Amino acid sequence: ITVLGIETSCDETGVAVVRDGELLADVTATSMDEYARYGGIIPEIASRAHLQTFVPTLDEALERAGVALGDVDAIAVTAGPGLIGSLTVGVSAAKALALAAGKPLYGVNHIIGHLCVDELVDGPFPEHFIGLVVSGGHSSILRAGNIATDVEELGGTLDDAAGEAFDKVGRLLGLPYPGGAHIDRLARLGDRCAIRFPRGLSQGKDKARHPYDFSFSGLKTAVARYVERLAERGEELNREDVAASFSEAVCDVLTAKALTACEVFDCDTLVIGGGFSANSRLRELAAERAAKAGVTVRIPPIRYCTDNGAMIASLGWELVRNGVEPSSLDIAVDTGMDLGRIKM
Ligand code: ATP
Ligand code: MG
Ligand code: FE
Repeated sequence: ITVLGIETSCDETGVAVVRDGELLADVTATSMDEYARYGGIIPEIASRAHLQTFVPTLDEALERAGVALGDVDAIAVTAGPGLIGSLTVGVSAAKALALAAGKPLYGVNHIIGHLCVDELVDGPFPEHFIGLVVSGGHSSILRAGNIATDVEELGGTLDDAAGEAFDKVGRLLGLPYPGGAHIDRLARLGDRCAIRFPRGLSQGKDKARHPYDFSFSGLKTAVARYVERLAERGEELNREDVAASFSEAVCDVLTAKALTACEVFDCDTLVIGGGFSANSRLRELAAERAAKAGVTVRIPPIRYCTDNGAMIASLGWELVRNGVEPSSLDIAVDTGMDLGRIKM
């Protein structure tokens, strides 16, 4: 089974080809360089960039894979969640290709794709597992059986996503956008016990009511207040210590809740995906705590953590091999696609 995967939910234009769980080609273009001066993604610029890069990216992916469009068995495309203009470019292109080549179309969930890409590296998923997706727009815990048919969201962030919180604190510390990777680098030089920042929804009633939910906006405010207070007193800010202590607060909560889900749902595998899973402290802490709990952690290599076509091709391949019905050619994009919904 050969599947073409198309990803355009945000700023990356990604096209990949997967054949029977093996990645034949994965090509990504990004408009991220354009956003540093704005301090955030500009949706209009992103959709225009997808229009410009889509065809060259597709051509290069097919050429590298040594596959013609006529050779693929299905076309998978991100249908949501994401930016409406960006999603629309990919979905329109995928519909046109499916129609022209007479191939089935699968409009799939980007967030499930963030987990599914791991199969290309670490092999097929076990029968049951817990997924932790941490990205620029999401921080969610999922319970999964068969990835093609059975996924349920157990909880998610009530305000900021982990990556979003990192980007905001990055701004506070005067780091370039997106700040996530910069904070990670600074954090490795700092003392993670220097400042005790709050762990949202981790204690008492909050924890009981929201066992798998996250809240990072209070933490972000605590960091802002800490930085302001130092400035008022004219004291010097140790950015490394702030970055390390802030990262610790985020990663502590993410890993603790994910491992609680593993215990409660009796899963011995935790799969972590999404752009934030590139974070070094998250990887370290997840490995440490999972080992203690007898849980196997699967996290794809960093190049597959951020958005790419491979994650969509991988999920498309799972849908095809599980005999799931294709999507209709008149599907709409779904900017807020429910995480329990695997395809349109
Ligand atoms: P979504 O998948 O929810 O639609 P997205 O696709 O925009 O959102 P990704 O591309 O998966 O998000 O991830 C981007 C996020 O990952 C950014 O917020 C970025 O700062 C963050 N990030 C990347 N590397 C690191 C790192 N090493 N540490 C922390 N955050 C990181
Ligand atoms: Mg991105
Ligand atoms: Fe993403």
